[in-house]
Amino acid sequence: YRYCEICRRIQNKKGLIGMKTGKNYKFWFATGSQDLYGDECLRNVAEHSKKIVDGLNQSGLLPYEVVWKPTLITNAVIRKTFNEANADEECAGVITWMHTFSPAKSWILGLQEYRKPLMHFHTQFNEEIPYDTIDMDFMNENQSAHGDREYGHIVSRMGIERKIVVGHWQNPEVIKQIAQWMVTAVGIMESSHIRVCRFGDNMNNVAVTEGDKVEAQIQFGWEIDHYNVNDLVEYVNAVSAGDVSALTDEYYSKYQILLEGRDEAEFRRHVEVQAAIEIGMEKFLEERDYHAIVTHFGMLGGLKQLPGLAIQRLMEKGYGFGGEGDWKTAAMVRLMKIMASNVKDAKGTSFMEDYTYNFVAGKEGILQAHMLEVCPTVADGPISIKVCPLSMGNREDPARLVFTSKTGPAVATSLIDLGNRFRLIINAVECKKVEKPMPKLPVATAFWTPEPSLAVGAEAWILAGGAHHTAFSYDLTVDQMVDWADAMGIEAVVIDKNTNIRSLKNELRWNAIAYR
Ligand code: MN
Repeated sequence: YRYCEICRRIQNKKGLIGMKTGKNYKFWFATGSQDLYGDECLRNVAEHSKKIVDGLNQSGLLPYEVVWKPTLITNAVIRKTFNEANADEECAGVITWMHTFSPAKSWILGLQEYRKPLMHFHTQFNEEIPYDTIDMDFMNENQSAHGDREYGHIVSRMGIERKIVVGHWQNPEVIKQIAQWMVTAVGIMESSHIRVCRFGDNMNNVAVTEGDKVEAQIQFGWEIDHYNVNDLVEYVNAVSAGDVSALTDEYYSKYQILLEGRDEAEFRRHVEVQAAIEIGMEKFLEERDYHAIVTHFGMLGGLKQLPGLAIQRLMEKGYGFGGEGDWKTAAMVRLMKIMASNVKDAKGTSFMEDYTYNFVAGKEGILQAHMLEVCPTVADGPISIKVCPLSMGNREDPARLVFTSKTGPAVATSLIDLGNRFRLIINAVECKKVEKPMPKLPVATAFWTPEPSLAVGAEAWILAGGAHHTAFSYDLTVDQMVDWADAMGIEAVVIDKNTNIRSLKNELRWNAIAYR
């Protein structure tokens, strides 16, 4: 499935750069019925669906507005409504519900032409059976248990991806499921607007960061371009000394400065290099409308340092990032940042890399970091600037932001190219504090235990072919990422509490046939 071809080129370019998408997304609420039960019944249907829409909007639980649409009865109206939804740039999806019975052949043409995310909200106006008053008129008017099955049948028969949410519309747990799906729907809509700028190719001889860029554009809508890093260097060198100084002052006011014995003036000069990269790179990306960045520590051209602090700051502003040419992860980080952008009390989304294990019984986990590039949105507590050698490449010691990350549940994803298809591996993880500070480690870190345990989680990850790089978020769930993968038509492999190795091996075998 490819969504949103229509509005693909009509983007608010400036708005897309930041965390927000620049669009005021809304979701349409379409109620199905038929005229068999008379005008009074249809008046009630319309009134009920309006009350449901108002109730959903007033719940305060939805990240986007729901817009009521007139009751859908005929083939012509259904088809027209879905096509209007396609054409409306602000519509990120349609929520459908059959209040009464709506013969589903009337839905075929509309569904066939519809190209955006679809939800089937299997609800009912009344929560409880009205035992004392219920009669056949009531039954005929309130029969979504019946009508929604007819509708669900045709959607299944047509093989259309949709989210089904079941329950009463006033139940907060049910409304939260709608909220979660809205986030995924925006991820589906925005995927085809992601543009990745590669300053350098993939790292030589590395397999897992490679992939088919043409297929990625067909499947996900991503545009993945390449520039010589020296095209960027011109922008960096053109940044005025005043601008560099002003941004460096901002860094100094915002972050703790950890000289660790270095000369103060020399330290600041190193930080200024990153300030110039941040300003120059952002200008370069804005002018060309890119939203994700790929660098390579071995392909730095005229850059004086590996972009560290600069990349961390750009990630904080909403850019995706992947190290060593990893454009798949860069695009996923951008995608997940867009998805999380309207989540209340967001805890952060970042590029990560599996580095070192703690195998001590009861304290098992994986220390996460990268050379430098971890997004400060995941930071917990103070953020410091350090200047240290990189021990790789041949540039001067880069300045970087150092911090530890928040605790709590999160999701780590890895998109891999298996040659004939993409697979998204999705691991539920529990983030924790490491037992002791790590004063000699000059990078930002996170520490997590994968579900269901380090041993099973890591075995499953390796069996599934997952990379060392991940796109990581505290603000998204396994289900949301599975729904996104389903909408994209790719395989999703979940590693969570329910994972056991024997079942997973079979799942991978079966998927090899299902997705070939
Ligand atoms: Mn790496």
